[in-house]
Amino acid sequence: MGTLKLTLFHVGPVAPWANTVFHKQIEKGNAFLRPHGLRFEAYPASGSLDLDWSAPLLEQGRSGEGLAQRLALRAMAHARYASFDNRLPVILCQIGGGGGESPGSIDQKLNWLPWVVMDAFTLNEDGLTLTHEAGHCAGLKHPGHGPQGDSRLVEDGHAVTDNLMAYGTFDMATQKYGGRTLIDDWQIDAFRHAYFHSA
Ligand SMILES: [Zn+2]
Repeated sequence: MGTLKLTLFHVGPVAPWANTVFHKQIEKGNAFLRPHGLRFEAYPASGSLDLDWSAPLLEQGRSGEGLAQRLALRAMAHARYASFDNRLPVILCQIGGGGGESPGSIDQKLNWLPWVVMDAFTLNEDGLTLTHEAGHCAGLKHPGHGPQGDSRLVEDGHAVTDNLMAYGTFDMATQKYGGRTLIDDWQIDAFRHAYFHSA
C-alpha cells in the first residue's frame, strides 16, 4: 500500500469545522484510492495544526494580492511545521470563490512545491476535493485539449465527468453534481510519482 503523506493546517476562523472537514476528505479519499493500493497518511494523526491567519483568500489567486495571500499562508505553514519528509501541505481556510485550489501545480511555477488550499464551507459533496487537488499536485489535469487539459479524459467530444479530475456529472433534476467514481491507471501512476508519495 503506497501512502500519500499530508500535513494538515487550518486557520483560526474555520477551527470549529476543521476536524469534520478533514475527516470526511480523508475517509472519502481513502475509500476511493484504497482499491488502487494508495491511501492518505496525515500529520498530525488527529486534528490539524493551527495558523494565525484570519482573512479570507481573494477569489483571484494567480496574480496580485490573491497570489500574495496564498504565498504568505504557505510560508506561515512552513514556519509552523517544516516538513522534511516531503509531505503535501493542505490548508483549510476561507476562499472568496470557494472550493479547492492547488497553487504551484500544472503550469504555475512558484518557489514551493505544489500545495492545497481548501475552503471550509463549499466543498463538493462527494468528499473528493482533497483527492482531486492532490491529483493536480501530482500533475493531473482536468478533461480537455491542449496544454491546460487532458484529452484522455475526453470521449466523443465530452468530458468524462465522473472521473476524479472532473467535477462530477450535473443532474438537472436535483441541480446538483453527482459523486466522482472513476480513476484511470495512468492517473494512479501519477500519484505514485508524486513528491508526497511514499512506497
Ligand atoms: Zn481541479
